[in-house]
Amino acid sequence: MHRAGERAGERSAQDGANQSPGDGPAPGGGGPPVVDHVPTDDGVVFLTYDDGAERDPRFVELVRERRLPVSMFLTDSVVGPGYAHFARLRAVGASLQNHTLDHPALRGLPYAGQRAEICGQQRKLESRFGVRPHLFRPPYGTYDATTLRAAADCGIAAVVLWRVTLDGDGDLAYTRGAHRLTRGDIVSVPSVDTPSLSLADRTARLLRELEERGLRVGRLEDHLRRTGPSAVRGRGRSGRSGARSGSPRDGRRSAGGPHTPVRTSPPYRRRAAGHWHSA
Ligand SMILES: [Zn+2]
Repeated sequence: MHRAGERAGERSAQDGANQSPGDGPAPGGGGPPVVDHVPTDDGVVFLTYDDGAERDPRFVELVRERRLPVSMFLTDSVVGPGYAHFARLRAVGASLQNHTLDHPALRGLPYAGQRAEICGQQRKLESRFGVRPHLFRPPYGTYDATTLRAAADCGIAAVVLWRVTLDGDGDLAYTRGAHRLTRGDIVSVPSVDTPSLSLADRTARLLRELEERGLRVGRLEDHLRRTGPSAVRGRGRSGRSGARSGSPRDGRRSAGGPHTPVRTSPPYRRRAAGHWHSA
């Protein structure tokens, strides 16, 4: 369900008004910080949901009832006509963030294409919701220095990866570090093809685990703002996140590794099986 005027190539011409594709580094040269964990003394973790494929009405209710300040990283071609669902989520306290127009693996792509994917979704979300996102999650968690430059040029304040993944069975996997939830963890909830638990049930299960550990859900934007540059992990390092999409660690699937394709919706059916992964 591609719509006319939404394709990346057409976007880049508009973007070029401010900076020609292939120009030098972004002002300051560093680009936005890349975070997968936020150092904090607060007993909080951050729940982030990817793509926008699962539209579970009970999840909206859960976010409302529990006042969960979750972050939704949305891909335009996945959400398609489903933006009303995310408007409801936003109305009950979720924040809506950028996960590209069409979910490509950005690493290695030219500046113009990367910028079109990021800036295009900034504009899309702004036109739908009147708010310009500050956070960006690269599809599959893969990015390079060009991604950071493009993100900076599109007004992104931080590139958000994850240390923890919640899978379709409600189980947690860890990309690095301790195999338990700790304060400041960023938890990614990817779209999965046939989850055994609904999004609401998976989230409720995670909330019970948080309670047992004395943790609660924090608002990622607030804590990133509060923590500032010290939250940075891997600023500008281009190889790190790509490495995490490799083979399983510790005998189990890496949280950043291949996952089952997300649930089918019209844009997905056109894709080769296995194209859609975690994040
Ligand atoms: Zn994704």
